[in-house]
Amino acid sequence: MIDKETRIKIAIQKSGRLTDHSLDLLQRCGLKYTRARDQLICFGENMPLDILLVRDDDIPALVRDDVCDLGVVGLNIVEEARLGFQDNGPGEPFSILQRLDYGHCRLCFGYPEDGPVQTVAELAGQRVATSYPNVVADYLRREGIAADVVEFSGAVEIAPSLGRADAICDLVSTGTTMKAHKLREGETILDSEAVILRTPVDIPPAKQEWIDRLLQRIEGVMQVRESKYIMMHAPKSALGQISELLPGSEAPTVLPLEGRDDKVAVHVVCRETVFWETLENLKSIGASSVLVVPVEKMLA
Ligand code: ATP
Ligand code: ZN
Repeated sequence: MIDKETRIKIAIQKSGRLTDHSLDLLQRCGLKYTRARDQLICFGENMPLDILLVRDDDIPALVRDDVCDLGVVGLNIVEEARLGFQDNGPGEPFSILQRLDYGHCRLCFGYPEDGPVQTVAELAGQRVATSYPNVVADYLRREGIAADVVEFSGAVEIAPSLGRADAICDLVSTGTTMKAHKLREGETILDSEAVILRTPVDIPPAKQEWIDRLLQRIEGVMQVRESKYIMMHAPKSALGQISELLPGSEAPTVLPLEGRDDKVAVHVVCRETVFWETLENLKSIGASSVLVVPVEKMLA
């Protein structure tokens, strides 16, 4: 059983883009854990901290309701939930303790390349499809634009071609998904990254001490998080996919390979942790001879 008085409960995404990074962060903070048989909880062995694995969309409410003391989730989900909770009365549902510098993406408009709508101003009287109806409606209200917000729970980028919307507002990290659907990336309305949320209720002192310690360690981990220089051979046609697989990377350097027309050498600096899974994914899209080396210093 979990002792609510002394043990910290932290919710993280069960399986998705934030999962590896979040578990890695906690491990780098020194946490050793065992995963329960039901796979829903990880019990901390050397700290009074247990991890609850849930869908990311559920995390804001779990923290608001004090089921969990802390939660790690994208700012996009946090803002959508915060605006949704406003109807339940005043008072902050949770506070943001720290930005974590991973899971970077932006919520931005996408306009059909040859469509009549190309800016937010031109959205007046039109329909915009999104999975973030509260954030988008709030933005449009503040901009003074009366447009219809159509909620899509997934595959937002196909809404215009289905004739369901005149524009979309969706998360983008590299922009290749929008391009692939013949959408032009427009205004950004939210820059997102993973953040730590804290419950609005008072926390017993012994527990608070551990939370403070954890936050201090997280700061330390973030300071030394190393960037990696990644080199590989890859099919020319896979360049877009490579950028998508390496979040936080800048435009890759592409070099010709002697005697090869189909493959090139790709060098890229990645500011986020590179996992085995990432390397396996690179391999599956045709990359070979993949080398990952640490970066010692960097001057932008
Ligand atoms: P769940 O099953 O937990 O609901 P999900 O499918 O909603 O998962 P993921 O696709 O795993 O969520 O994304 C989780 C978070 O990763 C997003 O909410 C966002 O903060 C961040 N993220 C970073 N880059 C992107 C991107 N290109 N597209 C979508 N989300 C991204
Ligand atoms: Zn989700």
